[in-house]
Amino acid sequence: MKPRAPRFPIRLDRVAPGAQAPMAPQRPQRPVHEAAADARRHSAPSGLGLDSGAVRARMVQRLRAQGLRCEPVLQALEQVPRHHFVDAALVAQAYEDTALPIGHGQTISKPSVVARMLALLFEGQSARQRGSLGRVLEIGTGSGYQAALLGVLGTQVISVERLRPLHERARELLQPLRRANLRLVWGDGRLGHGPNAPYDTVIAAAGGEALPQSWLDQMAPGARLVAPLHGAGGGQVLMVVDRTETDWVRQVHEAVHFVPLKSGIG
Ligand code: SAH
Repeated sequence: MKPRAPRFPIRLDRVAPGAQAPMAPQRPQRPVHEAAADARRHSAPSGLGLDSGAVRARMVQRLRAQGLRCEPVLQALEQVPRHHFVDAALVAQAYEDTALPIGHGQTISKPSVVARMLALLFEGQSARQRGSLGRVLEIGTGSGYQAALLGVLGTQVISVERLRPLHERARELLQPLRRANLRLVWGDGRLGHGPNAPYDTVIAAAGGEALPQSWLDQMAPGARLVAPLHGAGGGQVLMVVDRTETDWVRQVHEAVHFVPLKSGIG
């Protein structure tokens, strides 16, 4: 059988808007020493590998310089290897402040937005008292990166993902981190996860038109929720909800851009 000819040009339409192409096209007629130097640059992203800790420390320094002051969150970001959760072709961009595609039309969120949401959670009443996010419900496991951070910051984490291939991939990626306090669930996160409720913390990585009632019902008194929500103007905003003994108190924060919260499983 004749081998199939490679299909050119390579389509880059699965690369998220704003993300760069993983590699510049190589020119076959270039002098060998130039091409070799280029290949070395591309195959060994600077600082990744043995000293990926140094690259992460720089990412954390940048977040600090932008005004993020929540020490537990900064420490968790310094600890969890984000490059482990992105596609091999995008590893060089893993510590840039950008969302990256993880397949199935979904993205791993931008580190600064993840950091901001986690810091908002830490400012909640029970997290401040406890110095931990306690029992956490995450909606939208995606790559599993944020779930890994939550595993460091909370006592128990239930993370729900509706797309089975992403759920399974996250399970594989999280295995080497051996976080016994992390449980991944394949299901519709709009229903929350009743068996482990109530939660001290609820965080969603996908935004809908309204906050599902189950999320509000599954919050313990003193709990805090952070989630993107479609605002009146059509764009998304970050919502914070605190459950008191008698009520749910809402605050609207900055504009954000998350993938949609969808119903059902896939
Ligand atoms: N926290 C993730 C970001 C993933 S993007 C990370 O660190 O990589 C948001 C995810 O929410 C997507 O994987 C999407 O499939 C998922 N999602 C959307 N609607 C959902 C729902 N109803 N229940 C569970 N997951 C949902």
